[in-house]
Amino acid sequence: MIAQATYQFGSFINGHELKSGVRKRIEVRMPYDGQLLGEIFCATKTEATQAITAADEVFRTTMKALPAHRRSEILRRTADLLEERSDKFVNLLAMETGKPLREGRGEVDRAIQVLRFASEGAKTIHGEEIPLDSAHGGENRIGFTRRFPLGVVVAITPFNFPLNLVLHKVAPAIAAGNTVVLKPAEKTPISPVLLYQLFEEAGLPAGALNIVMGTGPDLGETLVTDARVQRVTFTGSGLVGWKLKELAGHKKVTLELGSNAPNIVFEDADLDAAATALVNGGVVTSGQACISVQRVYIQNSVYDALVGKLVSRAKGLKVGNPLDETTDVGPMITEDAARRAEEWVKEAVTQGATVLTGGTRHGTLFEPTILGDVTSEMKVVCQEVFAPVLSVMRFETEEEAIAMANQSDLGLHAGVFTKDISRALRIADRLETGGVWINDASVRRFDHIPYGGVKMSGIGKEGVRYAIEEMTQEKFIGINLG
Ligand code: NAD
Repeated sequence: MIAQATYQFGSFINGHELKSGVRKRIEVRMPYDGQLLGEIFCATKTEATQAITAADEVFRTTMKALPAHRRSEILRRTADLLEERSDKFVNLLAMETGKPLREGRGEVDRAIQVLRFASEGAKTIHGEEIPLDSAHGGENRIGFTRRFPLGVVVAITPFNFPLNLVLHKVAPAIAAGNTVVLKPAEKTPISPVLLYQLFEEAGLPAGALNIVMGTGPDLGETLVTDARVQRVTFTGSGLVGWKLKELAGHKKVTLELGSNAPNIVFEDADLDAAATALVNGGVVTSGQACISVQRVYIQNSVYDALVGKLVSRAKGLKVGNPLDETTDVGPMITEDAARRAEEWVKEAVTQGATVLTGGTRHGTLFEPTILGDVTSEMKVVCQEVFAPVLSVMRFETEEEAIAMANQSDLGLHAGVFTKDISRALRIADRLETGGVWINDASVRRFDHIPYGGVKMSGIGKEGVRYAIEEMTQEKFIGINLG
């Protein structure tokens, strides 16, 4: 039993931890049973500005000139350290986010890969030659581009993958030679600090990565409006993300926001494989992943058969303590989050939906839920449900399935299940999402694929190479050979 906060962290600015003095504190509690896990000592707005000053100075004096092989080496060493200490991180993720150990292992493994991709990426940042004689008058000239780091990157991250989504910003930023001011989610700030310590041990210069602790409303505006910041990269909810883009003014902005991922199943699909992929993809991180399976469109002729399989798979999942090796689905991040999901399900039921399984909440635990008889106007369908709740709907024709899937102002990832590859590719072309999986659920992501939403799901791309591109600027250089 944890009697008092095990972890107590302040902000980390220019290599120094700030936690003395009278300051706002935020408790970090385990989502499963509410035990105190840690507390953070928040930064003031002035300290957030100091973090930018430090990052700006360290960029000019150190990072800008740090050779690619050194940046690569630091990232590689950080990956090795994370691998060595992976068990500690897996346990911490279970305690801090509530994700079961199996999922935590997946997150840590991916985080190690992100660091390794970034380590390799640091060595291959380059521009290109432009054949200038393609233009009239361009004869006798040589043109090429070079890529340079931007400077200070402000990174604001969500609670659901506090290790891997922090790394999707920090690792490419460092690979490219930038410096970072990170504001991690205040609900899950501990893994980011332990990661910071690995970077420090791996030899990252002090001030290249700074962490400011606090809430978004307290620190967000100060961070994104500072003129010295060259890129704001945000992962989180749409409401906050689009507001930050307005505040950021002329700055480059990456927004990785939410979605209500559509998944389409045709009658020729392998229904057992689809059922497993869809349920797993709907309940992973208790449905609190941006590409969780949410809307499932099923061809009429196999609707009953597939729904039966989905329900029996969902019923077979064990919900409970994330530290128990046999748990499939852990708690949601807070009781408020679970209560909000419960309200949305209840509201859908009053509007005519049928609970096929689940629908109940015990504290922060929310049972895997499948809803039938839903309509496109219900919140559980048209908004991001962000809970282990799947809605199943019927369609008859390919055209109808595409129209239903695209009937959303969100668009991050989609899944299509069919053995007909021509049909799958036709549909992939027409789905209004940033990515499409064929015979895999929307939730799948590898860390080197280009990843980002269209419509209200965001702007810009992550995936290490793509993030490195966004965190560098390309400069053209031309030579007149005389
Ligand atoms: P959130 O928007 O509440 O918080 C995300 C971050 O923004 C946190 O660090 C928070 O402190 C900060 N924040 C909150 N209000 C702010 C403000 N006014 N100004 C500046 N910063 C502010 O999101 P969350 O609940 O932590 O995460 C869930 C959301 O994130 C979901 O919508 C999910 O889909 C999305 N998400 C997207 C991706 C992706 O890659 N597209 C990945 C994971 C999560």
